[in-house]
Amino acid sequence: MRVIDLANIKVLVAGAKGKMGQEVVRLVENSQDLELVGSIDHILVTDAENKEFSNLADAIKMTAADVLVDFTTPTSVKANMELALRSGISPVVGTTGLSSTDLDELDELAKASGIGGLVAPNFAIGAVLMMRFAEQASKYLPNVEIIELHHDQKLDAPSGTAIKTAELIANQRQAKEQGAKGESETLVGARGANYAGFRIHSIRLPGLVAHQEVIFGAVGQTLTIRHDSINRESFMPGVYLAITKVKEFKGIIYGLERIMD
Ligand code: NAP
Repeated sequence: MRVIDLANIKVLVAGAKGKMGQEVVRLVENSQDLELVGSIDHILVTDAENKEFSNLADAIKMTAADVLVDFTTPTSVKANMELALRSGISPVVGTTGLSSTDLDELDELAKASGIGGLVAPNFAIGAVLMMRFAEQASKYLPNVEIIELHHDQKLDAPSGTAIKTAELIANQRQAKEQGAKGESETLVGARGANYAGFRIHSIRLPGLVAHQEVIFGAVGQTLTIRHDSINRESFMPGVYLAITKVKEFKGIIYGLERIMD
């Protein structure tokens, strides 16, 4: 197992030309204790001097990275994580689309490799709090719907944040099937996706970044908990925290809240 020098953590960024990847590259370049040893994206040409690579295997061969930060696509993230873990590099992952089975398999691989990794559906501290408050409220207000809103280039729905919120609520809330008995949809999908008896709705529009409302209803009252990421800088303190803490554990940690004090 490689020992990480905390004063100088060597970081590879996958998806470096993407919307999130560009922010991460800026974060690493502007952090005194982080060093950008390479960036990977489909459209880059292999060029060791500029430390830009078109695939992860080449990047791993030609750099001595400690941490891989991955903001790519739901179809490539699992293979990227497997490659990183097998090479002794700790993944810090924001890419959504990993199933709970994927996470279990990756956790086993990380433990077998003796290193840690972190997957967070949302790196914004405010979003983590929104999820926590929603979990608490669902104990007292079991009627709930989640509305997540994202930019229209997002590939997966519902968002990883909405799924994580739904999991937390389902663990806390008294189980029940919401809505009128015998309700039907005149247009398929009108009531959203059913998760453990409550609904998740996904909105995709240009102009949005990443937003979520959790609406609770009870007799004569509603409670709305809302979080808005108005730009992608909002995720960077969480990404930095994960990069600097990931070597402290073994296995895959799921959720930023697990490493927040
Ligand atoms: P994006 O702008 O489409 O960027 C993804 C980038 O990854 C693209 O440049 C893409 O290149 C590249 N790419 C795809 N497959 C790759 C591979 N195998 N190796 C290297 N690069 C690859 O997307 P984004 O908005 O940055 O979001 C990326 C992911 O992060 C999404 O899953 C999104 O939901 C998630 N996200 C998470 C958080 C969080 O806090 N956890 C916040 C925002 C977004 P091509 O375009 O050439 O294919």
